Amino acid sequence: MSQIETTSVESGDLTLNERFRIFGILGLILASFVFFALWPPRWLQSIEMWVNTRAVWSNLPIWYYILITLVDVHITTACVSLFLHRCQTHGSITFNRFVGYAMEFWLWIFTAMATIRWVAVHRKHHAKVETDEDPHSPVMYGVWRVFFYGTKLYHHAAYDEFVLRKYGKGIARRWFYLKFSLLGPVIAFVLNLWLFGIVGFPMWLVEMVWIPGFAAGVINGLGHWWGYRNFDTPDNSRNLPSKILAILTCGESSHNNHHYNQNSPKFSVKKGEIDLGWYYSRALEFVGLAHNRNT
Ligand SMILES: [Zn+2]
Ligand SMILES: [Zn+2]
Repeated sequence: MSQIETTSVESGDLTLNERFRIFGILGLILASFVFFALWPPRWLQSIEMWVNTRAVWSNLPIWYYILITLVDVHITTACVSLFLHRCQTHGSITFNRFVGYAMEFWLWIFTAMATIRWVAVHRKHHAKVETDEDPHSPVMYGVWRVFFYGTKLYHHAAYDEFVLRKYGKGIARRWFYLKFSLLGPVIAFVLNLWLFGIVGFPMWLVEMVWIPGFAAGVINGLGHWWGYRNFDTPDNSRNLPSKILAILTCGESSHNNHHYNQNSPKFSVKKGEIDLGWYYSRALEFVGLAHNRNT
């Protein structure tokens, strides 16, 4: 059985210098973005005019664009949580076939992720949690490395053929999504510009960094490092004590509850814990499009 090593990953947390460098680069990117938005050079104005005159809704109030972006990223998060995580990885929910196809397509457009890669990495995380074989343990790699380089750690495992064969059993290999994964975000980019004009570009940027930020960074990093524990699991998993994070992550922030009972479709267990994903799956079950395993 062949093992493909695509990149090497370092273990151990980032040094203070490395953290400052990352914050510096991010700050510089943000500052240049604000600068170009406030004082666009002539060439940028011509591009903006060209794009906006061809767009469908280029003159909506700014709140509409913010709202649409939030809805987009929320649907993406729900698809990750419900389809990739609860359904495909753990089998705690089953969806009507066409609902599954739609979620898989949405994830391709907004995350470029192929189902088998995500499932294999996550199953390996559960099987090897907090060991040097865990793809993204902050206990092994340090929370800053997982927070900022979570996507790199994910890619390291997701493009390892050995990992896919061992942990991706039973998951369909959709060659189109595997071969043309990056075409999805390109389609999203073109669609955004066509629908919303030049403002579609920052909307697209938010859509693209959302899952690397909230799944790879917040859940894989903070979810094994900061927060409270309801259950004494043999890992360092935590529930993040924030209702906002619970809403933004569709319930995935109750990570200790999930590690304790991996086969439950419901992640909240105590009063005050919010799991929107559970409500969505119940709603889909109510209209006959999903079936939840007993909690
Ligand atoms: Zn975990
Ligand atoms: Zn899981």
